[in-house]
Amino acid sequence: MGNYAVTGSASGMGAAVAQRLRAAGHTVIGVDRQAAEVVADLSTPQGRRAAIDEVLTAVDGRLDGAVLAAGLGPSPGRDRPHLITQVNYFGVVELATAWRPALAAAGNAKVVVFSSNSTTTVPAVPGRPVRALLAGDGDRAVRAVRLFGKQAPIFAYAASKIAVSRWVRRAAVTRDWAGAGIRLNAIAPGAIRTPLLERQLATPAEAKAIHAFPVPIGGFGDPGQLADWVVFMLGPAADFLCGSVIFVDGGSDAYFRPDDWPRPVPARRLGGYLARMRAFGRSRS
Ligand code: NAD
Repeated sequence: MGNYAVTGSASGMGAAVAQRLRAAGHTVIGVDRQAAEVVADLSTPQGRRAAIDEVLTAVDGRLDGAVLAAGLGPSPGRDRPHLITQVNYFGVVELATAWRPALAAAGNAKVVVFSSNSTTTVPAVPGRPVRALLAGDGDRAVRAVRLFGKQAPIFAYAASKIAVSRWVRRAAVTRDWAGAGIRLNAIAPGAIRTPLLERQLATPAEAKAIHAFPVPIGGFGDPGQLADWVVFMLGPAADFLCGSVIFVDGGSDAYFRPDDWPRPVPARRLGGYLARMRAFGRSRS
């Protein structure tokens, strides 16, 4: 049986994942603001440092998997963009990076990061906050979204999830991650009936926007079903899964952008691979 770290373990999808892993006999170190093995505030650097260290001590330096589910939704509030970027981006990237040696020590570890279908269904998300987050500059990211006034939390949320998804895809394929036998992937849920969504539905303006949003399958997703996907992504079925962002959103992403993906890679990105193929062709002729 393995050791698993689950952030956001006190509620919603993180709680459902922790419950399934425990039921299967695994040891779960939950991280949350309350009701968890490790109580820590992931919106501060000190809280993240404490969470990193306490988990590593609890698992004795060996992690078979990690699920980064702690997150804040795009509700209104002056401080919200700051909290969103700190928890949704740095609360994932700093923890996963610091746990990487413990994941490598397990030999065949799996990591699942919670992204969102806001990455592809929120229109006109500016690139600046995304680039700022990937460069590690949270303050610059917050300044960039503040220009959008009341819409700032929505753009902060989408930008945090785009940045964290890009971080997953960039890191997953590297020697440090894939080369160390760690499968790093993301899940991108649509609207799932958790306390996060219930809080949004309790605000009339947010509820109106959520109910008007096209979901081809209809209704909301179930947290238990999303947890089943995550557990699948932590198991042997994910041995060949690397750098993928799995959308489980009732079809909204496909509805808005049926032809945007898959898209062929531009030749300039193939770099050395293309040169090797040409050299191979010449050597055979
Ligand atoms: P939830 O609110 O039920 O659970 C989130 C957990 O994160 C809570 O237990 C909360 O205490 C914890 N958390 C928040 N801020 C924290 C902090 N500063 N320090 C430590 N813990 C903190 O939400 P959920 O719907 O289960 O969301 C899980 C993940 O899925 C989030 O990353 C969210 O952005 C993402 N997501 C949710 C939906 C949805 O519709 N519910 C859709 C797409 C993506």
